[in-house]
Amino acid sequence: MHAMLLTGFGGPEHLRHTEVPVPTLEDDEVLIRVRAAATNRVEIDIRRGLSGLGPPLPLVMGPDGAGEAVAVGVAVKDIVVGDHVLPHTMVSCGRCENCQRGRDNVCRRIRILGSTMWGCHAEYVVAPAHRVVKLPPELPFEVMAAGNKFCTAWEALAVTAGLRAGEVVLINAAAGGVGSCAVQVARHLGARVIAAVGSAAKIDQVRANGADEVIDYGTTDLLERVRSLTDGRGVDVGLDIAGGALFHPTLQSVTDGGRLALIGAHAGKMIEIDLTDLFRRHVAVMGCGRWTKAISQHVVGLLAAGALKPTIFKTMTLAALNEAHALMSDRTVNGRIVLLP
Ligand SMILES: [Zn+2]
Repeated sequence: MHAMLLTGFGGPEHLRHTEVPVPTLEDDEVLIRVRAAATNRVEIDIRRGLSGLGPPLPLVMGPDGAGEAVAVGVAVKDIVVGDHVLPHTMVSCGRCENCQRGRDNVCRRIRILGSTMWGCHAEYVVAPAHRVVKLPPELPFEVMAAGNKFCTAWEALAVTAGLRAGEVVLINAAAGGVGSCAVQVARHLGARVIAAVGSAAKIDQVRANGADEVIDYGTTDLLERVRSLTDGRGVDVGLDIAGGALFHPTLQSVTDGGRLALIGAHAGKMIEIDLTDLFRRHVAVMGCGRWTKAISQHVVGLLAAGALKPTIFKTMTLAALNEAHALMSDRTVNGRIVLLP
């Protein structure tokens, strides 16, 4: 099969479009012909050797993809050949105590598609049947591949932060992959959405995506602006996607007794925190970002109903993954890049 194979850590020259054997199928697994995959920023970290996941090489990356079941193991009951399916990004074991409690996103033996096992940047991918989500046939594969990131945003806002209708949420890095999904999810949940972006060029895009207010923190004091937009009260929920220098203004924007969901650290992962501020103001700081199979099933329904709509920036062939990475690196990409094997 054709695949984009990562053979070493570093620049895009380590990604090669090549032929590899079709993966073999265990009794409880499904062989999926990938019909659409999407690029993900995590791939750039993996390629550079910075992901902290220590992936085995060679590796087929690609946490996000959708396709058709073309073969099933003898023990597989729920999936049949021809089903449209999504291999779940978080390949949990199904047996540990967390899996048994429905917390499969924090499985103790979790594997990550495209990071610690071969993913969707290939003609075929194999997944255990219990991690395969069925898709309605009318849902386009590209929409599912690009829309998989809504699961991250749903987990962060609806589940971890418990965002409710009528609450106010601040989303920083709101123009990025997770951020743009989070804006739509927050809108869908009925919240008032304050979005923060790093440049004026992104304001219109984020407003069109459903944000009620957009703050350009490149030219405006984020905390001051949030306070003025909320009559000094602050937001119920902060979603920190960037970390680094954005963490403190995002945390300070959260009202007393509010919640801060933390989902990324591309802007810096080491910061100092005044712990007294956290406990005196009763602010809950929560890590999040990995989602359960139940969340995927819910998001599939919302995508099929058109309630959430991914922005597809460009559709390219799988062989052009290097080019897609170059586009992602210069940060001009608005939305997802879809790859067709
Ligand atoms: Zn488990």
